[in-house]
This record gives sequence, C-alpha cells and structure tokens, in this order.
Amino acid sequence: MDKEEFRKRAHEMVDWMADYLENKEKYPVTPKIEPGEILKQLPSSAPEEGEDFDRIFADFKDVILPGMTHWQHPSFFGYFPANNSEPSILAELLMSTLGAQCMSWLTSPAATELEERVLDWLRDAKGICSTWKGVIHDTASTATLSAILAARERVTGYRINQSGFEGFAKFRVYSSEHVHSSIDKALRIAGIGQFNLIRIRVDDNYALIPELLEKAIQADVEKGYIPLCVVSALGTTSSTAIDPIDKIGDICQKYSIWHHIDAAFAGTALLLPEFRWMNEGHEKADSYVFNPHKWMFTNFDCSVLFLKEPQHLIKTFSLTPEYLRTQLDEQVNNYRDWGIQLGRRFRALKLWFVIRHYGLNGLRKKLRHHLKLTKKAVEWIERHPNLEILAPVPLNTICFRFVETGLSTEKLNQLNEKWMAEVNQTGLAFFTHTKLDGKFVIRWVIGQTDVEETHIKNAWELLLEKMPKKENVQG
Ligand SMILES: *Cc1c(COP(=O)(O)O)cnc(C)c1O
Repeated sequence: MDKEEFRKRAHEMVDWMADYLENKEKYPVTPKIEPGEILKQLPSSAPEEGEDFDRIFADFKDVILPGMTHWQHPSFFGYFPANNSEPSILAELLMSTLGAQCMSWLTSPAATELEERVLDWLRDAKGICSTWKGVIHDTASTATLSAILAARERVTGYRINQSGFEGFAKFRVYSSEHVHSSIDKALRIAGIGQFNLIRIRVDDNYALIPELLEKAIQADVEKGYIPLCVVSALGTTSSTAIDPIDKIGDICQKYSIWHHIDAAFAGTALLLPEFRWMNEGHEKADSYVFNPHKWMFTNFDCSVLFLKEPQHLIKTFSLTPEYLRTQLDEQVNNYRDWGIQLGRRFRALKLWFVIRHYGLNGLRKKLRHHLKLTKKAVEWIERHPNLEILAPVPLNTICFRFVETGLSTEKLNQLNEKWMAEVNQTGLAFFTHTKLDGKFVIRWVIGQTDVEETHIKNAWELLLEKMPKKENVQG
C-alpha cells in the first residue's frame, strides 16, 4: 500500500471508528449467530493475489462485524468489562504504527522508561508501598503464573529452573474456593499440579477464612509438603468478595510463604481513597496483580504486576544469550527479564495516554459514577419481592436471582438460567452468571466506559419484562 493510499484509508477508517463509537449502543450486544456461520462465509484458502482494500473493508463490515460481541456497548453487563476509551484507542494506533518490539531498554529506551514511570504513578495512586516496582504483562493469568514461578524458585534457591523437580517434596498453593481458574492453570504449567491447589472454605461473604488457611498449612507441613504460595483475591470473579489480605499476610510471614494478591478487576477501585481499606496489609505480600484492561479504560491487553522484590522475578526469568547482551544491562531495566515473553508490545503508551487524558480525578469520577449507578440498581432489586441479592456488593458487581416460595433450588436455577437467556437474546443487554452455594445467580457488572442511568434503567425494565411469570413457575 503506498503512503498516499494509506493516508486516505486511515482517514476513512478513523471516520468509521468515530461513527462506531458514537453508535455502538445501536448494535445488538451479542450476535444472533449459529456456530460455523462466519466460517462458511470465509474462503477456504488464502487469496493468491492481493485484493482491493475496498473489498477487504466491506467484508469486515458485512462478514465480521455481524459476528462480533460488542464489548464496548454500554449495556454489556457480563463477565468483567474490558472497557476502553478514546485516548487508549489512539495510543494503540500510534503503537501499531511504530511497531516497536520493546524487549530490552535498548530496543526502545522510551518504552522501558515510560513503563517505569507510569507504573510508579499507578503504584502511588493506588497507595501501594512506594518501594515496590511494576511490570506490564499481557494478562493476569500470565502475571500470576510468573509470580508463582518466582515463588517456586525463591523457595528452592533457584534450583528447579536449573535441574528440575528431583529431590523436592510436593508444593502446595492455597486460595479460597472461589479462586479464578487462571490459578489452576498456573499450577499446571508451573509443574506443581492442579491437585496441589488447596481451596480454603469461605465465610458468608464468600471471603477466605484465615483460620482455616492456617490449619491447612499446618496439616500440610506435618505431612511433609512445602507450602509455596497463597493467592488471595481482592474481588473474586464470582462475586467480588474481598479476602482478608492483612490476616493472610500474617500467616504467610509466619510460615515464609509467598503471598500473591489477585486484584485483577477490583484493583482499579484502589484509585479511590474510600477503597484503600481493601489494601491494608498488602505491604506484607510479595506480589500484586491488577488489570487496567478491565475497568480502567485501557484497551485489552494490559495487566500490571507489582512486586516487593523484583529480583526474585528477574532471577527466575533472566537469560541473556550473547545476541541479547548489551553494555548497559547493569544500568537499565530489561523487561524481557521480568516475565515469560521475550518480545513485548509498547503497552505503557496507552496507560500514559489514559492517565494523562482523564487525570486521576477524571478516572475517580468515572469509577464513582459506576458505583453510584450500581447503588441504584441494588435499590431496585432489593425492593422487588421476587428478587434477592446473594452476595455483598462492595463494588459494581451485583449477584441476584429470581425467587418464589415453594420452589426447589434446581427449579429456581432453571428459571433463572432461562430468564437470563431470554434477556440476552434480545441483544439489548448482556448478562452472565455464576453459582453461589449451588444457586444460579445473574451477575450485573456496571463498569462500561459510557454506561449511563438510561442504560441501567432500560436493562432493569427488560429484566422485569422477561422475568418468570407466576403462572409459569409452579410445578
Ligand atoms: C479476570 C480475572 C483474572 C484473569 O484475567 P486475565 O487478564 O484475563 O488473565 C484473574 N483473576 C481474577 C480475580 C479475575 O477477575
């Protein structure tokens, strides 16, 4: 593509992008599509000759777009959001234009130093200890795996990296029973084994019970296991339960166990002073992950791992073959040594754009707006005789379900699942679910960049309209 054509196409495309962002709520949140429907519209082999750009772009609009879930739709209330914002999108455009591969300081000094600076900003804005250091990973899954590998190497004197597991007893990792599946996956990959993830029972608020954690550790020590790491959650994925990290931290210190805090979603709330209580005791932990790509208006992917002592991570991952060695290695951060990937994207740029565009106060204002909308939705649900909220709502995730006296849990589960499916089928809003104590609950997460009161009102009316009817629920 010659540069003149690029200029023309880029202008067209930016116009399309602006139109999309203006009109995003006019799309169905989720596509009405059968498996294979997109695939059969795509030719079974790659074109031998280059195609006209008009046709490529037309196919994007006609074939691809109808098969997309619109994650930026203000009525997307499912999972956790992956919200973005205009400054973040613009930064992504610049990043892809530069096309830099930022594995070392030398491969783009600005990328490394900007990453250091914005992560210090974020650390301080969230009230994390000022001596900690951060690194950007693609996802919380990778960040947590990296932390667990660093924990494994620290406890074994960096020997498993060298010579494998021979001679070591089995390791144990602890979490609440509401742990995210990425921890199971990390234990598979780290060679620790998923069965060695010990899930500690939770209290009525779905938070880990520290006394039971300590008992489990003691029992394992007696049996000869090596307690390696506790992964606590600030904001579980099911219900945003807040584990008591202060007490967990005491236990970890007592038994010399690595404490990793998974604040993937809720970590953004720490920008608000009124949520600092959640972080109390974090200074006793070793690592802490949170995803700006969930609730901080920064395009997926961008996950931040903070560490008390980055040298454990660096010692775990650093490998410098001759072709990567530079004369400056002693003086600079080479972020390739802070994780699994060698090649790295320039993700700090979008964080920098987002933080500077909104300012910390602008970010706080948006978060408080989401929290205020959530309070409204909670009030509506609480006032309804056939609805109940099954978990505390410390942030912006509401777990609720339809109830009717005399119906079994099984029947209620069926009714709630059907209700949610009917709401989602309209394409006007999108919810996902979880199970709490075997009960199917709908999760309503209010965290989209452009969500306003009209969106939650419309969603509420839609929920009421599709709610199981009295005459249909009996029997
Ligand atoms: C979303 C989430 C994760 C996984 O995040 P990825 O960045 O998609 O890997 C891990 N832990 C918790 C608590 C989460 O909410």
